[in-house]
Amino acid sequence: MAWETIHKTEAERRAARLPDPETARARFTWEDAREMLDGLPGGGLNIAHEAVDRHVVAGHGADTAIRWLGREGGSRDLTYAELAADAARFANVLAGLGLEPGDRVFALMGRVPALYAAALGTLKAGMTFTPLFAAFGPEPIRSRMEIGAASVLVTTGALYRRKVAAWRHDLPSLKAVLIADDDAPEGCIALGPAMAAAPDRFETVATGPEDMALIHFTSGTTGKPKGAVHVHGAVAAHAATGAFALELGPGVTYWCTADPGWVTGTSYGIIAPLVHRARMIVDEAEFELERWYATLARERVEVWYTAPTAIRMMMRAGADAARGHDFSALRFLASVGEPLNPEAVVWGREVFGRPFHDNWWQTETGGIMIANTAAMDVKPGSMGKPLPGVEAGIVARADGGLRELGHGAIGELALRPGWPSMMRAYLGEPARYAKCFANGWYLTGDLAMRDGDGYYWFVGRADDLIKSSGHLIGPFEVESALIEHDAVAEAAVIGLPDETAGEVVKAYVTLNPGFEPSEELERDIRGHARKRLGPAVAPREIAFRKTLPKTRSGKIMRRLLKARELGLPEGDLSTLETDET
Ligand code: ATP
Ligand code: MG
Repeated sequence: MAWETIHKTEAERRAARLPDPETARARFTWEDAREMLDGLPGGGLNIAHEAVDRHVVAGHGADTAIRWLGREGGSRDLTYAELAADAARFANVLAGLGLEPGDRVFALMGRVPALYAAALGTLKAGMTFTPLFAAFGPEPIRSRMEIGAASVLVTTGALYRRKVAAWRHDLPSLKAVLIADDDAPEGCIALGPAMAAAPDRFETVATGPEDMALIHFTSGTTGKPKGAVHVHGAVAAHAATGAFALELGPGVTYWCTADPGWVTGTSYGIIAPLVHRARMIVDEAEFELERWYATLARERVEVWYTAPTAIRMMMRAGADAARGHDFSALRFLASVGEPLNPEAVVWGREVFGRPFHDNWWQTETGGIMIANTAAMDVKPGSMGKPLPGVEAGIVARADGGLRELGHGAIGELALRPGWPSMMRAYLGEPARYAKCFANGWYLTGDLAMRDGDGYYWFVGRADDLIKSSGHLIGPFEVESALIEHDAVAEAAVIGLPDETAGEVVKAYVTLNPGFEPSEELERDIRGHARKRLGPAVAPREIAFRKTLPKTRSGKIMRRLLKARELGLPEGDLSTLETDET
């Protein structure tokens, strides 16, 4: 099946925040993005000021910043003025503890209002913020706090007791543990009374664009997570890309389903929407099919930013599950985190009346780099084109240097450094950081192809490419063909060593409801794949699984499947908490 391009109408193009991406790309400079910001009154640049305080100063304090949906039902609206006051109180609590700009605040909690106040208060106080997944076990928490030399941990009493108390005193950098509650275990500070006693004003520390603001850990899909350092100046990229790739603007009801524990949940789950004075939906609960459909409809969500793993779960439940909900408020659907199978793009249109718009970026880039914007025609399976201000290329590493490749060739996706949200370091790993750059390019570690129209197509991680009988095979292409089969919900594809072919393709699949593993079904799926991909590329073997191993941020860990298959030590991968959901 060939996937047809989804054309946008003239009206859709005109309504887009970036009506003409081509012209914008030719004219845009990052100076234009800085003009979307205010800067601090006395000079300097601080993310918290751009996200919250400036809106209050401009008279928009009564606008809703966060509409929070509690896990057990119930909701709470926080205005920009309330969020600004809570952030100021949090900054005062930090300062009252004798902490100073440069100190590092880690957060370990679910998506509750205190998390947002902590993030913004930390930035306001000139300190560095690092969010962690509340679902991490003790070891991933500890190793990240060690790498990041955490000075403060903000968490809940329950999480502290279960995951931190036992080793807390082994971390010499840790000066205080704040508990988001009215009382706290011994040796910790209760945030409730401390916040209540703190003034609701705080003069934002006059940070500069190059001052450290955030440390984000990569998802750890390919090994030990790296700590990427980001600066306050990144907010210019959050502002521009939030408008260009996510259609954010004042009052827009926006739902980013990512947890702040990974970079999407902070760049586009806190900073970008607030900078644009959007109305943010924050759901404390995890994915649940009926809850999500109901939330989209009831909250009249206009812009929705989610991930392939969630979309595939919705697809698995069938389009019928979505019927009866009113999605008429939805204007723009976007996806990030993994390649978005063409089937999923088109499914969006069937169920929500709009295709999903895939975009690509990584922890290191701090913000969206390549995207299908609202005005662009969507080629299902493509991650889109570089945004204004982003120069991308496809390169091959060749004896010490790099060679740029033309249209149609598969090579490593590279970016010209210069956008404001680029990482400034990998914490404690200067050599690894230096190795990311060559010939004036930043090398992303991903393989891609650019077509004749300038659209980029994700092929796989550089290390996941399969070489079989002279063919180069990207796992994504094979996985996408497999999930087109009625029985297949999700697929992961790896290469296994083979004497004659070099490598052979093996697939792991999970099944849709109503299907059971059988030899006949395996033959049928292989037959489908052969027809779609040809015998050289189709998987030689298909294994049925109940679940696929995934990182906390929902990425399939192909490398772990391969290590298990070959009986290799799982090494760094096994130390990660994986979600085999
Ligand atoms: P680690 O670097 O620790 O192995 P990771 O690369 O998964 O983990 P992230 O920075 O969270 O950590 O993920 C970025 C990566 O996710 C990208 O480099 C790419 O491989 C993949 N990715 C993100 N968005 C897309 C997309 N739209 N299409 C294809 N791949 C994507
Ligand atoms: Mg990575």
